[in-house]
Amino acid sequence: MKSIAVYCGSRSGASDVYIKGAKSLGIELARRKMTLIYGGSSAGMMGAVADSCLEAGGRVVGVMPQFLDNREKSHKTLSELIIVESMHERKSKMSELADGFIALPGGPGTLEEFFEIFTWAQISLHQKPIGLLNINHYFDPIVDLFNHMADEHFMEEKHRSLALVDEHANGLLDQFSYYLSQSCQTNL
Ligand code: AMP
Repeated sequence: MKSIAVYCGSRSGASDVYIKGAKSLGIELARRKMTLIYGGSSAGMMGAVADSCLEAGGRVVGVMPQFLDNREKSHKTLSELIIVESMHERKSKMSELADGFIALPGGPGTLEEFFEIFTWAQISLHQKPIGLLNINHYFDPIVDLFNHMADEHFMEEKHRSLALVDEHANGLLDQFSYYLSQSCQTNL
């Protein structure tokens, strides 16, 4: 895994614990020499993950739609900032550049991006690992919803655990490596 796309909020959340968790992911990506691919903003969780990764010596690539450049306060000191035309182009560019996908706590925008990549995995458009960094148990309601979907037969049983979940960045990235080693064995 050379690069990870991180979907995250443009806000900071109600407690410092969220920014702290975002920073720990940025530092862990840099430590593992993985490029961070993200939405390109300097605000909130997005800014925190990018800044911490850069400060730890990592490479960070932002993907920003032109029309959001001012509103989302594009980050000025990234390794690379890719300007695209639309939200759709942002998502497809991020997915093309990344070997795995992580959602950090965020709002509707974060979930929209996460669910698109989740549903693409469900229909086998990609086999890359997907994870929720469950800082402060923020994603517990989503994990419950996945279980509810599977229990009520609105989701295939095998997709119940499609999204890997961990409270810690290093734990989640270790789960990604294990997932990839298992899928390599299945494909042999
Ligand atoms: P939020 O989680 O609502 O704070 O949004 C986080 C990021 O998701 C922001 O940079 C939004 O511009 C972005 N976003 C929201 N909707 C979409 C979308 N449909 N496609 C791509 N990015 C989106």
